[in-house]
Amino acid sequence: ILLPIDENHDQIKSNIKNVVFSEVTPRPLERNIRLVCASQDALTDILDMDPDIANREEFAEFIAGRKLPYGALPVAHRYGGHQYGLWVGQLGDGRAHILGEYVNRRGERWQVQLKGSGQTPYARVHDGRAVLRSAIREMIASEACYFLGIPTTRAVGLVVSDEAIVRDVYYNGCPRRERAAVVLRLSPNWFRFGSLEILSRTGEIAVLRQLSDFIIKEYFPDIQLSDENRFIRMFSEIAHKTLDLVAKWQGLGFTHGLLNTDNMSLLGLTVDFGPFGFVDSYDGGFVSNCSDGEGRYALAKQPDVVVWNIGQLANALKPLLTSSQQVHMSHILKTLDTYCKNKILETFLMKIGLKEEQWGDEQLVEKLLDMMQQTGADFTATFRQLAELEPSEMVSEIKLEEKWSLKRLSSHASWGCWLDQYRERLVKEAVNSRDCGVAAVDAGSSGLFEDERRRRMLSVNPVYVPRNWLLHEAIVDAEQDDYRKVRFLLEVLRNPFDVQPEAEKRGFSAQPPQWAYALKISCSS
Ligand code: AMP
Ligand code: MG
Ligand code: MG
Repeated sequence: ILLPIDENHDQIKSNIKNVVFSEVTPRPLERNIRLVCASQDALTDILDMDPDIANREEFAEFIAGRKLPYGALPVAHRYGGHQYGLWVGQLGDGRAHILGEYVNRRGERWQVQLKGSGQTPYARVHDGRAVLRSAIREMIASEACYFLGIPTTRAVGLVVSDEAIVRDVYYNGCPRRERAAVVLRLSPNWFRFGSLEILSRTGEIAVLRQLSDFIIKEYFPDIQLSDENRFIRMFSEIAHKTLDLVAKWQGLGFTHGLLNTDNMSLLGLTVDFGPFGFVDSYDGGFVSNCSDGEGRYALAKQPDVVVWNIGQLANALKPLLTSSQQVHMSHILKTLDTYCKNKILETFLMKIGLKEEQWGDEQLVEKLLDMMQQTGADFTATFRQLAELEPSEMVSEIKLEEKWSLKRLSSHASWGCWLDQYRERLVKEAVNSRDCGVAAVDAGSSGLFEDERRRRMLSVNPVYVPRNWLLHEAIVDAEQDDYRKVRFLLEVLRNPFDVQPEAEKRGFSAQPPQWAYALKISCSS
């Protein structure tokens, strides 16, 4: 399933068959390369390296593709995909090279990948490069998602060069020159729904079976290769992991922006950070990708569209199933909407400090989101400020200026009524905790349950997320060769649940500036 390098020629135009990877060497970044930033966590926790390595010139040379690690076998992965709901055939890693696999001291296996490292047989008409702007977004978002508790691929470091590339054109018709960058990414593997879809669609069934068995053997240790229902089990695990991921996204207001099946990981990880956005003013219809005119990938539509994507994965696996297994698969598919809905509800209940669902809780959450939508309250700040609310402050008029988002929310006619219901519900929760042996008193007083509620809520409602305006400011400076804001953002987002004085000073948890609400994120990268 590996196509050797000397057989790769001329494949850029044609469809390749019976191949999962193509051997291909990176095209190094040449002109004036330098390190923009590095993740000391990925370096130490995953790659067993001293973070000081990032200061060595050699480190930048590896990321730039000028040096290859000993034993590397660079390959590009072939996959296909549904983009915006339509099957588009073969895609593949057009500008990414998997260098090999690193087994760390904990025995974890991580595939090391360069992105932006030159054309591959799957580049089609594209240049194989990535612009600095999108590389910064990928780097920061990967690491931020990790610390926010969202399953994700990781990023180790980012190198920029003076190589010029053009993606967009100014209104006056002038091409906008940008600089090429490379990100070093890590993931246990880089397989996508589209990795299996392409094989199924083109009738490469033997390879489909071979790859599916490989994935089961390597990444689903609980499933036996001798199990005749192994493909259904794999499907079911992927489907549920993926929906667990969606619940995390919804709970943090993360909008992926480009949920094509080639961007859906078979491991249930967030992969390929492009035109994503963490919603500021809550709006279920929030579309972060300005090329998504129909709003297919709007925030509140993610659960449905991901279930649709899982349906495409199911279709891809059908040739491996008997007819009764196919019936079984369609039964699983029918349960996914409810599974996802429950996971999301669970997530939001945790966000407001509730552990187990009681009658009326779903309405309590829905009502809160409705009020947020109608008042334009900030998603991240509202939940955080609700967590920080003292029982004595749980009155309908929010006085404190620093609770700027709750203040906005409290302008809603139903706020007082909602708050009464919420307080009542917290009392029930406190009684419940007491029944379970945890000391608790009336939630209205600052009793032990109150501490417990705050602890729960503060641990799931972050102070900081990589908002688009923060990324934008960091990128504007980076384009002038000043990487301090990029590095600072990366540093702050290592502890997104802790209030940090310097970040506060810079307004990271304050109301975003007016221009932030008009930011458009281009799909070009
Ligand atoms: P995306 O929309 O970013 O998920 O990418 C869709 C497909 O286009 C993938 O197969 C990418 O590898 C490929 N692609 C995007 N940008 C480039 C580029 N600059 N050079 C080569 N391939 C690219
Ligand atoms: Mg992609
Ligand atoms: Mg992209």
